[in-house]
Amino acid sequence: MPIIVQKYGGTSVRDTGRIKNVARRLCAAQDEGYQVVAVVSAMGDSTDELMQMAHQISAEPPERELDMLLSTGERVSVALLAMAIYELGHTAISLSGNQAGIQTNTMHTRARITAVRTRRLREELDSGKIVLVAGFQGVSPDEDITTLGRGGSDTTAVALAAALKAEVCEIYTDVDGVYTADPNVAPGARKLDAVSYGEMLEMAATGAEVLMLRSVEYAQKYKVHLKVLSSFSNQPGTWVREEDEKMEKAVVSGVTHTTDESKLTLLRVPDRPGVAATVFGALAERNVNVDMIIQNVSEQGTTDISFTVTQSDLPAAQQALDIITDELGVAYVIGGQMGKVSIIGAGMKSYPGVAAKMFKTLADEGINIEMISTSSIKVSCVIERDRVEEAVRALHQAFSLDEE
Ligand code: ASP
Ligand code: MG
Repeated sequence: MPIIVQKYGGTSVRDTGRIKNVARRLCAAQDEGYQVVAVVSAMGDSTDELMQMAHQISAEPPERELDMLLSTGERVSVALLAMAIYELGHTAISLSGNQAGIQTNTMHTRARITAVRTRRLREELDSGKIVLVAGFQGVSPDEDITTLGRGGSDTTAVALAAALKAEVCEIYTDVDGVYTADPNVAPGARKLDAVSYGEMLEMAATGAEVLMLRSVEYAQKYKVHLKVLSSFSNQPGTWVREEDEKMEKAVVSGVTHTTDESKLTLLRVPDRPGVAATVFGALAERNVNVDMIIQNVSEQGTTDISFTVTQSDLPAAQQALDIITDELGVAYVIGGQMGKVSIIGAGMKSYPGVAAKMFKTLADEGINIEMISTSSIKVSCVIERDRVEEAVRALHQAFSLDEE
């Protein structure tokens, strides 16, 4: 029998009524002839609530204990879901990540999956049960419970689909697919029927919140057939798959944005080998994720280096820079509140002038570009945070993405 993996996000299991709704969907999938594995997130905002409680007790809770705490949210969901399935006359079993064979490294709160042992899963499936796996968690070689980082249930689902060679991995959420832009910002945004793994990776990395970035990397590596769809409707959703000849290669498939960038500039740092390595090494040591980096042309042996980090990483970045700039005897400034707007499209590779058109569109709106970065299928611009929404709408229209 073919295996299907379905993942349900927090909004899809927000209350017991919604849990019953998910139970009905899972039973229907089994009745269609699938062996069914469901990966479930914590109910509603319960992960945030657990996190708040931890921070009421400790400013820096030990990460091992944080994982122990946060992993409970998903266990509540799977246990209730199993009960709901029994009520419908089907059989099910709920499993923690550990019981489901999800092994990770030891990086608490942001662990990576290293292996999936499928023996138990297969036994339970073969006995006719719907198997419910608590998302976002696993077990380390030290036999401690780990979590995979926010949004990690997506990665659990993709990893299980890969290990079980599932026919499809369906990610159920509260939107009915991947859109050309955030519909709350660009009212003309359209749902896409399909995007390539590469496009989805760039979208996830530049602000699209529908899938955790890591889950897309995993899906691409193991060629998992991934689909994003809504648990509140029966709409067909968006396929995330390999780029193929038939796939329409749009020059621009989507416009994404973020509004939580902070810009930092190191002034007149000595222009000699090793300086950038020292600065960014210190940031990496504090787990600061650096996004864009710009180094200006050298003048009289010194140069300015600017880079962006997310707002949440700013305190750690400042701590690192306070020390490093002291050592180097230079100063740094924190720029204004920034955001980033990006255009993504697999067709960009073979189509010149896309970046120029983006810059012109922003210029026509009177929006100043602070920083630029590109990949073969993406152009991103850092701009003032207050102008981000206007920029998204202008680009969405300029690249003819608005609904006809
Ligand atoms: N419950 C976790 C979170 O809120 C994991 C997930 O939902 O995927 O981040
Ligand atoms: Mg999510």
